[in-house]
Amino acid sequence: MRFVGFDEATLERFWSKVDRAGGPDACWPWKRTTHNGYGTARIRGRNYRAHRLALMASTAKFNPLPSDFACHHCDNPRCCNPTHLYWGDAKLNRADCMNRSRAAIPFGSQPPRNTKLTDEDVKNIKHRLKAGSSVSGLAREFGVVRSAIQRIKSGRGWQHIAA
Ligand SMILES: [Zn+2]
Repeated sequence: MRFVGFDEATLERFWSKVDRAGGPDACWPWKRTTHNGYGTARIRGRNYRAHRLALMASTAKFNPLPSDFACHHCDNPRCCNPTHLYWGDAKLNRADCMNRSRAAIPFGSQPPRNTKLTDEDVKNIKHRLKAGSSVSGLAREFGVVRSAIQRIKSGRGWQHIAA
């Protein structure tokens, strides 16, 4: 994914939507729209996770892989303070990363695809369904069609994965 539009003006606009009043060590909550608790930044018609953008900007990593998870040390999903953020990977078993950061790649602007779900995804989805997450919300988040989530929910698919 090429992150276009990450210029000075965009950055400035981005940071103006982050509440940095608490000082350098405090959490910097995103002041605008959130999605599943995470700040959502809209840039040129695409939605991005705000904290992921903050980490991309602070580490100059503008083309992170989907497997690069933007994680919070502070477990505050709205927080965009780069010192509270770090790049993790799928091996990290933090709920913060595993459950939601997959959707830190652009979401909402593309039609659902029949993406292949990994065993780890399915485990997470089962867990989230149990916790009351909606089928359509999970479908959006994992970038799959709703029937894929429905199949997991009904137990017709992925039976070998324990919830
Ligand atoms: Zn924080």
